Amino acid sequence: MNNKIISHHGRGFLSLIEIHVVCTDMMCTSVHGTRSSRNISSSNIVSAKLVRLKLRCDFSRLTLTSIAYAVQFLFFPPFTMSAAAAVACTARRSTMSAMVKVYRTVPEFREARKLLRKVDTDGKILPLLPDVGFVPTMGALHRGHLSLLKRARQENDVVVCSIFVNPTQFGPNEDLDRYPRQLERDCELLQEVGIEHVFAPSSVESMYSKYHVTSVDPGICFEQTEEGKSRPGHFKGVATVVTKLLNIVQPTRAYFGQKDAAQCVLIRRIVNDLNMSLDIVVGDTVREDDGLAMSSRNAYLSTSERSAAPIIYQSLLKARELFQSKECVSSCDLIDVVEQTLKTQPLVREIQYVSVDSRETMQTLTKVHHQEGAIVSLACKIGSVRLIDNIVLQ
Ligand code: AMP
Repeated sequence: MNNKIISHHGRGFLSLIEIHVVCTDMMCTSVHGTRSSRNISSSNIVSAKLVRLKLRCDFSRLTLTSIAYAVQFLFFPPFTMSAAAAVACTARRSTMSAMVKVYRTVPEFREARKLLRKVDTDGKILPLLPDVGFVPTMGALHRGHLSLLKRARQENDVVVCSIFVNPTQFGPNEDLDRYPRQLERDCELLQEVGIEHVFAPSSVESMYSKYHVTSVDPGICFEQTEEGKSRPGHFKGVATVVTKLLNIVQPTRAYFGQKDAAQCVLIRRIVNDLNMSLDIVVGDTVREDDGLAMSSRNAYLSTSERSAAPIIYQSLLKARELFQSKECVSSCDLIDVVEQTLKTQPLVREIQYVSVDSRETMQTLTKVHHQEGAIVSLACKIGSVRLIDNIVLQ
């Protein structure tokens, strides 16, 4: 009884999950299961429980939990969920680092992009182009990013995540130099959610050559939003880098978080104005249990600042309460209730803006009708940390 192998081949969304248990002794067992057919015989399953399992896996598209579920699903009742999780864990450890492919230059990524193909439910490579989901990030990944990545994972054949701290969207006195950079940890998280393609340019020069002169300028419209006014040049930097990344990755769908509300409106504008052929998907803001919106910048907060930070979302909830209590509410009243709530917290050092804008255009509104709704956004400093958040009124 010493040559027992479970091999498990996951080939993506709606894919075949195959688990083979093969014993070379007289109890010789071969178990094949698919999500759709459950074609497992119970006598085989019993012997599967007795063997010491050696794992050889390609889990590139499966999360730990989904592997555990698959193992339990196929071998139930002898496999408990915890046994299945242990199997999945061991397997994942043994295959770590081989799975996330990191591309450090544009040509390197382009070569790999050309080879991407659709795979059918039997794992056969088809001569068809896959749906590619794309999540651009600046790294220091957290659950907010991961929610976009998981959604992209569900809705596409292949997912690409980019990690690039783009200098052109930072102002001269902003936190470009101290922005957290942790590629190795990010890759581990990406691996956990089954993302295998990471475009992480190795240097600023690999994105912007020394002859770079062209930029995408969304103009006065975005410069005049409150976020635009407090970060001059930010939206031009975002528009340019996102356009470049979309050209490099050529996704079917690109995913952005509602957390950066003006950015979402901006990206939709660019895609429409420049006739780009892709869908933009916006995911909800993911929050900590106490309501603080997840952000890579939360790591800068001291313990006392972190305890004070939930006041931001509380102030936005007050605005929502007011909106819900009337048929039509003035923006001044909404702004006032948010500011007054923020001011109850002494660690809120500076309220940079509170703004009430159209959900479609980010143009400022003077009043909000129930039917139309609005978006209330704010930026403030807790200690020295600048945080932004928003709430959609609808
Ligand atoms: P960043 O790395 O901050 O540039 O963010 C990359 C993407 O993740 C952007 O589309 C953000 O809007 C999105 N994102 C950041 N934080 C959150 C969050 N808490 N919830 C949902 N999406 C987020």
